Amino acid sequence: MISERMQRTLEGGKAMAELFTAGERLAKQFGPENVYNFAIGNPNVPAPASVKDTIIDLVTNTPEVALHSYTGPEGFKDVRKAIAEHDREKYGVDLTEKNIFMVAGAGGGLNAILLTLLDEGDEVIVPAPYFPEYEAYVNNYGGVLVDVPTKPGTFELDPREIKKAITRKTKVVLINTPNNPTGVVYTEENLRDLEKVLVDKNNDLGIDITLVSDEPYRDLIYGDAYVPFIPKFYDNTIICYSFSKSLSLPGERIGYVTLPDSVTGFKEMAAGLSTAIRSTFVNAPAIMQKVAAACINDECDIAYYERNRDALFKGLTDIGYECTTPNGAFYLWLKAPMDDDAEFAKKAEDYGILVVPGSAFKGPGYVRVSYCVAYETIEAALPKFKELFDDVKAGR
Ligand code: PLP
Repeated sequence: MISERMQRTLEGGKAMAELFTAGERLAKQFGPENVYNFAIGNPNVPAPASVKDTIIDLVTNTPEVALHSYTGPEGFKDVRKAIAEHDREKYGVDLTEKNIFMVAGAGGGLNAILLTLLDEGDEVIVPAPYFPEYEAYVNNYGGVLVDVPTKPGTFELDPREIKKAITRKTKVVLINTPNNPTGVVYTEENLRDLEKVLVDKNNDLGIDITLVSDEPYRDLIYGDAYVPFIPKFYDNTIICYSFSKSLSLPGERIGYVTLPDSVTGFKEMAAGLSTAIRSTFVNAPAIMQKVAAACINDECDIAYYERNRDALFKGLTDIGYECTTPNGAFYLWLKAPMDDDAEFAKKAEDYGILVVPGSAFKGPGYVRVSYCVAYETIEAALPKFKELFDDVKAGR
């Protein structure tokens, strides 16, 4: 008999699990060439050539026992050093290897962070819409996810809503920038407003909220958008980064957590995080740690996503759809042209189009359109999106 906790997680995850099979279902119905799958957030551009070269070099030239050995929970020292040096230069901040923890992707990192921080009943505030797996991650450690609205229309953080939601039980505020599902990148001004609220509430209530910034899409940014180093604004911030998207390595499970010196109780937190890693995934995959360090200055063809974003955003808004400005990640947050987003997503299937209802992200009235697809898929799908729009508007 599975635990009640897992039963809750299972229930919450059903909608997302269905998405993985929906593509196959539609392909059978319409033929694969007539299915436009914008539902899945899997990178579709290959990893940079340096990834393959590094793997070949590692497996050819490193003694096997050393190559495949345990690495210690934080990861290889030389790898953490290389990453710290990279981020030190990029952000102009003081980081060394003691601030870097190699993890099994952002999923592994967030689980380790929450395991370290949460006691039963502790509250984790998450601005909605949000990545649905957060429910499972918080539930894993007996936490309670408290969702708060973002600003209507722009989907930026709404510090006033966050302020209202903070209680003595609030342990963590979990944000995600660039955002899945909205594609919004939080501005410096918006983050500074959040900092003010957190500092005020900490002082008022005698608590010490940890801000966790989930940044797996940090390098997928377009135009003049940028993701600042958030601990510069709020000391007690932990960052979770992943190479799943920037190096197109989602199945390889590699990322890192940055625990800056400014985090409350740094030493204890560092010891807790190491223990959390050891007691869950033991260590991040060894070969992939080495790959991450060797390829830290490389990235997949992000321009491909930007071209997709431009074509899809222009194509859809020209048709008449309303979309949030997508400055990062590979998602477009589209206002459903009818009240019920689930009904709209279901109707879209009749046109061979697969999108995810916003309700799956606690963002009703919208759908998420993933543009990590072939450019040709966007070109072929736009006329179908138009037919769909026209039919919905005409009440057909
Ligand atoms: N956080 C967000 C917002 C995501 O969208 C994803 C994956 O899509 C993850 C975390 C997990 O990423 P990873 O593959 O690094 O575990």
